[in-house]
Amino acid sequence: MATFHLFPQLPTELRLAIWHLCLPHRVVELDYQREDLLFGAKRPCAKNAALTDANTRIPALSRVNREARGVALESWQPHPEPLSDSPELADWASGIIPVPRVDSHRTQFVHLNWAPAQDIDADWPADGDPLRYAMWVADQMPGSEISLDASLLEDVQYNSIHSEKHPWTREELQDLMRRRKSFTVVVQEPIFIHGDFHRVAQTGLWGLLGDAPVQIVHADEEARLNSFVELGREEGMKLSSDPFKNPLKDRLQELSDTVMAVFGSDENAPRLVPAFMFRYCPHNCASN
Ligand SMILES: [Zn+2]
Repeated sequence: MATFHLFPQLPTELRLAIWHLCLPHRVVELDYQREDLLFGAKRPCAKNAALTDANTRIPALSRVNREARGVALESWQPHPEPLSDSPELADWASGIIPVPRVDSHRTQFVHLNWAPAQDIDADWPADGDPLRYAMWVADQMPGSEISLDASLLEDVQYNSIHSEKHPWTREELQDLMRRRKSFTVVVQEPIFIHGDFHRVAQTGLWGLLGDAPVQIVHADEEARLNSFVELGREEGMKLSSDPFKNPLKDRLQELSDTVMAVFGSDENAPRLVPAFMFRYCPHNCASN
């Protein structure tokens, strides 16, 4: 990288503004981190949760110099905790692996990594309401969107009746979801990209300093979607699955069938926006 010698001579406000631009916009993941169940993927990076951990670390900006570190620390605030007088929120929140700190002003997505279908063990689900909690967290983060796994909706599509494993009946879920205008829905398993970190950081796709290893991309953001896939196809890089090869049209059709099954032709139904999740793993995974 070229050195910009005049940077220290810029007015402080300008330097601070530049540091702020280097802060990552991240996906805040809410999940149980049950290693055996996470995504159903068998890659070491999926199982050891190291990647999720990297996604919650203090921004890389903190390592540049003291001034930059101040900016990073200031953006890095404790994760909001629901009041104990709302047990539906507090109970579920107490069951997830807490994200210790977040940048509420730069959170792009609050992603609920939970679905009844993942619940194959008897000790699930935890008490409380995962979706209500995710909606509450997103409310604390101006400008963020909520993202869900398509399997959450699919489960309600096929099981309309309340059971131990489902926090809501179909009607209850409709009522809850109608409170927001739109939700992002990740329509297939997360796509892992492996390979050289410097190459990845150069692309800017994972934040200007490469410190936002989890990204959600809407299906209609074609240019951005292409950039991720092209990066994964480069020599020395690995893409765990190619969204353009697994028929994209089928996934989108399935989502629209699900929406129809869950909401019917309700005019007040929230908009469900299809998306993909990309996860960058810097490790040289054995299963690669
Ligand atoms: Zn990996």
